[in-house]
Formats: sequence, C-alpha cells, structure tokens
Amino acid sequence: MSELKPQDEKFRTKEDICTHLGDEYAKFMGAIVPPIFQNSLFVKPTPKNGIPDTGFVYTRVSNPTIDIAERKIAALEGAEAAACFSSGMGAISAAIMHFIKKDCHVIAPHTIYGPTRTFLSEYLADKFGVTCTFVHGSDPEDFRKAIRPETTLIYLESPSSLVLYMQDLKAIADIAKEHGIGTVIDNSYATPLHQNPISYGIDLVCHTASKYMGGHSDIVAGVVAGSAEMIEQICKNERELYGACMDPHQAWLLIRGLRSLPVRLRAHGESGLKVAKWLETHPCVDRVFYPGLDSYPQKELADRYLSGTNGLISFVYKGTAAQAREFVYSLKLFQFGVSWGGFESLIVMPTVGMTDEEAAPFDVPANLIRIHIGLENVDSLIADLDQAFEASKKITE
Ligand SMILES: *Cc1c(COP(=O)(O)O)cnc(C)c1O
Repeated sequence: MSELKPQDEKFRTKEDICTHLGDEYAKFMGAIVPPIFQNSLFVKPTPKNGIPDTGFVYTRVSNPTIDIAERKIAALEGAEAAACFSSGMGAISAAIMHFIKKDCHVIAPHTIYGPTRTFLSEYLADKFGVTCTFVHGSDPEDFRKAIRPETTLIYLESPSSLVLYMQDLKAIADIAKEHGIGTVIDNSYATPLHQNPISYGIDLVCHTASKYMGGHSDIVAGVVAGSAEMIEQICKNERELYGACMDPHQAWLLIRGLRSLPVRLRAHGESGLKVAKWLETHPCVDRVFYPGLDSYPQKELADRYLSGTNGLISFVYKGTAAQAREFVYSLKLFQFGVSWGGFESLIVMPTVGMTDEEAAPFDVPANLIRIHIGLENVDSLIADLDQAFEASKKITE
C-alpha cells in the first residue's frame, strides 16, 4: 500500500504521471527505468548492521517496485492510495470482501463481469449467506428500490465490458451514502485515464491491469484504489491473509505498460470509433453498442462520465447463428479469444446461438458479438471484417 508523497505533486497531467511518476534517478544510480526489486524479503536494521530502516519487510506486504505501480495508479485515479494484486479478480474479490458481513445483501447490475457475478451470487451466497439482487441499473432508482436493511454494498461496472452499459455514478454514490452503504466499481473499461469514479463519491475503484493498463497481453494483474484508510485495511486483511499479492516482475511490466497507456488508448479509441461507424452501416449488423457513437443508448451518461472511448465494440449480428459463427471463423486478423485491451484484435461471441429468453437474465441480446480493436492498421481490420461478413452470407442453414 502506498500513499502519494509530496514530491509526486509535480506531475500535473495524466501523461506525466504515466511516463515519469516514480522515476528516482538519484536513488537508482541514474537508471532511466527503475529496477525490479525481485526479492521476497528485506533484511532488518539492527543496532550493529548499519542497514537503514526503509519500512520494507516482505514482498507480500510491500515492495519498492510494486510501490511505484501503486503510486502511479493512485495518482491517475485521484485516490489517496492504491493496492496491487496478482489479478483483477484478486483486486475485485478483496474490495468486495471489505464490505461483506455474514448474511449481508449486495446490489449489482446484471451485466457485471461473469466471475464477479459468480463470486457474489454463488460463492459468497454458499459460504456466508450473502444475498445479491441484480438490477438493470440504467436508472439509479433501480438501486434505491433494491436496498434492504442488511444491504452493505452496491457493486458497479460502468461501462460493462460486454454490452457497454453505463450507470450514473454520482446519483448512485449519493443514494449509497444516504443509506450508509459502501460502493465499489470495476473501472477496467474506462481505465483511470477516461473516468475517475472517486471524484463522484464511489468508495473503491478496481481494475484488471491485464487489459489496457498492462496493454501487451503478457501479464495478469489487478489494483484497487481508494482512501488511505480503506486501502490500509484491505492490505492488512484481504491482501496479507489471502495472499493475492502482485509479483515484482508483474509490477515492472505493469509500469512499462502504463508509460504508453495514453498513446495506446488514443489509437484504440480512434480506430474503435472508425470501425464502430463502419459497422453501423453494414447490412449484416443489426445494432452496435459503442459509447462514442451518437446512436449509443446512454449517450448522455457517456458524455458526462467518459473523457474518451477505446477499442471495445459490441454488435448484434443480423442473420442466423450459423452465419454468425461463419463470420467469426472466417476472420484472419482478428483472433478468436477472450480478454481485450492488448495490442491485438480479438473477437468473442457470448450469446450466438442463444434465444432472446436464454440471454435475457444477463441483460444481453442474443447473437451478440464483441470485438476488440487492437493496434493493427484500421483499414486492414475493416477489410478483414468485410471479407468475413461476405463469407458468412454464403451460409444458408
Ligand atoms: C478481465 C476482467 C476482469 C478480471 O481480471 P483478471 O485480471 O483476469 O483477473 C475483471 N473485470 C473485467 C471487466 C474484465 O474484463
């Protein structure tokens, strides 16, 4: 756990935080890149050994390389402190556990990330008697109506990573505060560059750093940001006891990813918008979900909360499930795989082959396809999508 130090105040813009916060040339022998402290323990000072007391003891608790990643992310989120974890789910489950009591009640939108949904509605239900109410969530009153005396947490994900639905963070944070309920958000889609939920009153902000923050599909990592007090408790309890701490090498790769996050996101956003606009005009496409489009159903929320968009786009394929599958399998530049946020373009088809009724509990339309627009040439990507649509039309089943 690390808090912002006074010397960090010179980093006024997010680009400067991403590139340089944590660089300490005098401390690290002039190295332009801070080294990896790839060690498990730090020997302790004694009256005789002359070793200075740096406060570092053991890497599950804290480590100078992880500390740099945490200071960068806390500064980007406008948070007092941040704590890194070995995965996004490590961070999310720790933030949730902070607010969980035996037999408590949690409210969340239907569209949250699958494993988070399973954690809330199955794991915590079975082990601790936690109940969870899933709501649509586009109206803040959905949350107010679901509140019970035993509600301790409202969990959000905005935009959600499958259909990119949003929630009104300020209105929901106000409702939660009125009732003394904690709030946690998965802010992975927006990244700390495009949305800072703490400024609207949300308590804890979680990210998977395996996606845009790492950016190169070479790490699995996560982070929670919030008040110094809450982060300190999470580190002492959930992180030290469950032990899902980050590894120093993972932290070093995350710091490297953060340096180029602003330029990468700009590229993903520009290409994403171009592809989303092109998809909207294509006869094989029924509807497109992309917060940067004028047709985005929650445009007002997108304008209010997001200072940019990225490369995630969802759309409903217009045709049969067999045609939708043929489209996906015919792509050459896009790889068929989960995850997103790396340099590469990807595609998944979460509800292809489902009926509307089967997809309804997740608030996702049937025949939904999600693509991630990577850093390849955008016109090559459009040409690839186009040839795959043509191939899909030939399927007559
Ligand atoms: C991938 C993902 C996670 C989980 O992160 P891991 O690092 O894989 O544990 C959480 N939330 C969202 C929105 C994700 O896409």
